[in-house]
Amino acid sequence: MTGPVRSRIRVEGIVQGVGFRPFVHALAARYGLTGLVGNDSGGVFIEAEGPVAAVGALVEEVRHRAPALAVVERVSVTPVPPTGAHGFEIVPSVAGAATRAVVPADVATCADCLAELFDPADRRYLYPFVNCTNCGPRFTIVTAVPYDRAVTTMAGFAMCAACEREYRDPRDRRFHAQPICCPGCGPSLALTAPDGARMAGDPVTEAAALLAGGAVLAVKGLGGYHLAVDAADEAAVARLRARKGRPDKAFAVLAADLAAVRELCVAGEDAARLLTGPRGPIVLLPRRAGAPVAPSVAPDSGELGVLLPYTPLHHLLARRLGRPYVLTSGNVSDEPIAHDDADARRRLGAMADAFLSHDRAIRAPADDSVVRLFRGTALPVRRARGYAPEPFAPPWPFPRPVLACGAELKSTFCLARGRHAVVSQHLGDLESYRTLRAFTTEIGRYRRLLGIEPEVVAHDLHPEYLSTKYALTLDGVDLVGVQHHHAHIASCLADNGEAGPVIGVAFDGTGYGADGTIWGGELLVADLAGFDRAGHLEQVRMPGGVTAIRQPWRMAAAFLHAASVPAEGLGVARRNAAAWPAVSALAAAGGPSAPVTSSAGRLFDAVAALLGVRDTVTYEGQAAMGLEQRVDPGVGDGYPVTVTGPSPVLIRSTDLVRGVAEDLRRDVPAGVVAARFHHGLAGAVAAAVRLVAGATALDTVALSGGVFGNTVLLGGVADRLRGDGFRVLTHRRVPCNDGGISLGQAVVAAARR
Ligand SMILES: [Zn+2]
Ligand SMILES: [Zn+2]
Repeated sequence: MTGPVRSRIRVEGIVQGVGFRPFVHALAARYGLTGLVGNDSGGVFIEAEGPVAAVGALVEEVRHRAPALAVVERVSVTPVPPTGAHGFEIVPSVAGAATRAVVPADVATCADCLAELFDPADRRYLYPFVNCTNCGPRFTIVTAVPYDRAVTTMAGFAMCAACEREYRDPRDRRFHAQPICCPGCGPSLALTAPDGARMAGDPVTEAAALLAGGAVLAVKGLGGYHLAVDAADEAAVARLRARKGRPDKAFAVLAADLAAVRELCVAGEDAARLLTGPRGPIVLLPRRAGAPVAPSVAPDSGELGVLLPYTPLHHLLARRLGRPYVLTSGNVSDEPIAHDDADARRRLGAMADAFLSHDRAIRAPADDSVVRLFRGTALPVRRARGYAPEPFAPPWPFPRPVLACGAELKSTFCLARGRHAVVSQHLGDLESYRTLRAFTTEIGRYRRLLGIEPEVVAHDLHPEYLSTKYALTLDGVDLVGVQHHHAHIASCLADNGEAGPVIGVAFDGTGYGADGTIWGGELLVADLAGFDRAGHLEQVRMPGGVTAIRQPWRMAAAFLHAASVPAEGLGVARRNAAAWPAVSALAAAGGPSAPVTSSAGRLFDAVAALLGVRDTVTYEGQAAMGLEQRVDPGVGDGYPVTVTGPSPVLIRSTDLVRGVAEDLRRDVPAGVVAARFHHGLAGAVAAAVRLVAGATALDTVALSGGVFGNTVLLGGVADRLRGDGFRVLTHRRVPCNDGGISLGQAVVAAARR
């Protein structure tokens, strides 16, 4: 029989703010071990003393049975001399110079807290801030690491004796739950008029009454303020649209529980898992016919973005109102969500009839995350609350600290060092001063939290992007310009933990090409360090430049011209008759006011306009989404498309436009035409990939770019390629759209060294 041993155990990963220390404390009690556990800037440190088998058992459990919210990335064990000390204690956190700990994302209210919220016998009955070690605010209330109450916006609330007892009791669910509070000691709600005057009565009851009466209500959530209206009240939804300056883009709807969601949408097991999980995203689901939702909530769409309450306040409001409500970010479209109280009053004062707010400050803006289901798995559309700042650990390191500045629309940035890359939450479209300010503020906050001083700064090649301009202002760093579509493919590689080389298909709206033209329908042979442009969609003119992005009918004119198809008799030419000749002439003449593009997004625009889906748009991707919605799922054939190559491989997209025009003249239904277009394009992409593969012997394909958010195209391309024996990589953790660009830039910059 040997004597006791003592081991120093270091645990790295997402191990702070997820109940890790209580978990270790409980293990020590179970195995009869003495020692200590604490947080430091590297994660969690443990010293465990006792019989060698018991210490080994603790290490095994730490490795493989960590708390649900933890991500254990590395466990190292070093023997140290036994001390013979008694007891096992949680020691104070140690702040260090090199902070590597990772702040956890915010967590939706757990089932235990929800039960307490509606239990009249519980001391937190109806308390809008109930949380525990397994749920509640994290990232949005943190100002520094290590993660402890003193560095959260709960620091100003002194714990009452009852909360303190729970906080100190290792057997309690709130043992070391940093945002712990109760009605006696924690934050409180207030309902106020836009001028700040308090309104009488119980805030939740009165707020629900306002919603029921058609009011627009500003609600302070986890990562910022939302605007809410009764989802069934058409006048209220229309009022919200007018005040927010958002004419068309769909709103999300919050339903009280899964049963309420299923009255609105078709939600299978996969959807249920996502909706009820700790991240609590908005999930895009097929809308039920006759769902009790006002037409203006999601115009022109068979889908609905739905979410469940993810804070106690959202639960209380849903229960009190008794029906679903619209919950949309409190901002003017495409700006960051308002999260600071004073700023929210200024920005939302003219939009909201009342504010349901509280005195727990929010440190960082975090919009709701959005996912789409693709064959049972989540396809990220917008990655923010509940996901950010969860790190990526690609299988190759970042030898020098990197800041990647992202693109322009759906802006994110990425900070990376050592084995970790952290992608920021979605910040909005980087076209306004307000978004730029959020972008620079958050870069500063992440740098402090992660302790990363960038030595390498990656940016898009587009000289006019504010992200590029920001990168160019930084002194003393090595700048790395990364081509937009290369960054998309690298992002998909990093998302899948791969390094390539692959055949990359990058389809999106706009990206600055290596030759200075506008790219967007690209086939690249790429690894992380570099790429060759192996092929692309046929180039056409964009008559009027960026005006053609807002007016898809112009792209219809350009494609018809390029395809030598007469416009006579087509609805799009009739509807835009006044300007049609001039725009057609511009497409024919070319020149600087009609630049060429190989963009897939513009091809979708043209076909959407031809079909009468949209002649003009108010947000990016609107026409393409409308076109996807039209697809008749019973139609399997596609238009034939000529693909030539192999150097370069060229997809004759005008063949698709010719097919569409011919079918329209024959009065073929729009659903059939939309389907034939999608299948024709998918078949052409597969044929183009086969040509590139023939010349390179590559057998793996990465699909990226915002156009692959279209699941009809994504499924069609992936199925055809897999049928041909290719391995197909798609996005799983970062969006295929420009929200994933920063991760791609970071890995490219690291690979180039
Ligand atoms: Zn909880
Ligand atoms: Zn308390």
